[in-house]
Amino acid sequence: MARKTLVLAEARDGGLRHVSYEAIAAGKKVADGGEVVAVLCGDNIASLAQSLGHYGADRILTVENENLKNYTPDGYKQAMMQVIDSEKPEAIVMGHTAIGKDLSAGIASRLNCGLISDVTGIDADGELAFIRPVYAGKAFEKKRIKDGIVFITIRPNNIEALEKDESKEAVVNAFDVVVKDLRTIVKDIVKKTTSGVDLSEAKVIVSGGRGVKSAEGFEPLKELADVLGGAVGASRGACDAGYCDYSMQIGQTGKVVTPDLYIACGISGAIQHLAGMSNSKVIVAINKDPEANIFNVADYGIVGDLFEVVPLLTKYFKEVLQ
Ligand code: FAD
Repeated sequence: MARKTLVLAEARDGGLRHVSYEAIAAGKKVADGGEVVAVLCGDNIASLAQSLGHYGADRILTVENENLKNYTPDGYKQAMMQVIDSEKPEAIVMGHTAIGKDLSAGIASRLNCGLISDVTGIDADGELAFIRPVYAGKAFEKKRIKDGIVFITIRPNNIEALEKDESKEAVVNAFDVVVKDLRTIVKDIVKKTTSGVDLSEAKVIVSGGRGVKSAEGFEPLKELADVLGGAVGASRGACDAGYCDYSMQIGQTGKVVTPDLYIACGISGAIQHLAGMSNSKVIVAINKDPEANIFNVADYGIVGDLFEVVPLLTKYFKEVLQ
């Protein structure tokens, strides 16, 4: 059944977040031949729009307003509701990002429709169904929306974006909105990231735990991450000990990540940590305790001192990759 599908694209730091392209790929499946309309909100973002066409959007709406420069729940909700009222989509797809999580719940409540969040897979053969993890990633459930708008958020790094095709051009239209009486005003944005790579979208993550022993102990991990073009994460143990910032925390109460490669260094593998990383495609664990629980989820385990093993890996990858 063809469905007109709205996809929220996210702009950040002058570029588009990769999850926007993944959301278009998800939108294509959900649309089942229907039109996929990408919506890009912000201020001064029109120049980014066309690349959404290269990744499969049929039409793009740029929603520019000075009150949309930074994300605010009521600003974006007002804008998106005006787009939805005008476009009348049969499906909506957003990334399961900080913005998508916040916005989707508010919009679903306004629309009085169902919402399936944190989708990691789409079963489009037969009746449309969505796969999502439950019990902190220990099991998966399959869900359907029987009536009304099909509304989902997709977990970054799980649904592959379509191949970029620069010959594909989509129609880009400006969509005027009125955004007023904001109850939230962003005064300042303080960034606390340790590398240029966004943890939730990183293909490679090198993560440190209490075994790293100090803030300086993260240096070899950063070097390895740099060589692999990845980001640095941490266990809560490392954050609680003050070795790194909480923005790096991975797990049940931190970020949920699904990189292609997750290298856990000096992390014991508590259930709350596994909840945030056990769906990574390949897990490498480095721990000096051969009984550490992390080895139970690891594809490759190295029993040893991380301060010896990590620099060796960095040296090796430097030689191989550069
Ligand atoms: P530890 O358990 O102390 O493990 C350190 C490991 O380092 C050990 O296995 C040790 O063998 C190894 N090691 C030491 N020195 C070296 C060395 N030189 N070389 C190699 N290995 C070495 N935790 C999270 O991570 N994320 C969460 O989101 C999270 N949420 C939580 C929510 C709740 C409600 C609760 C109760 C807990 C939560 N926790 C979370 C905490 C979790 O239970 C663990 O306490 C925490 O993950 C332990 O961190 P760790 O593995 O770094 O430390």
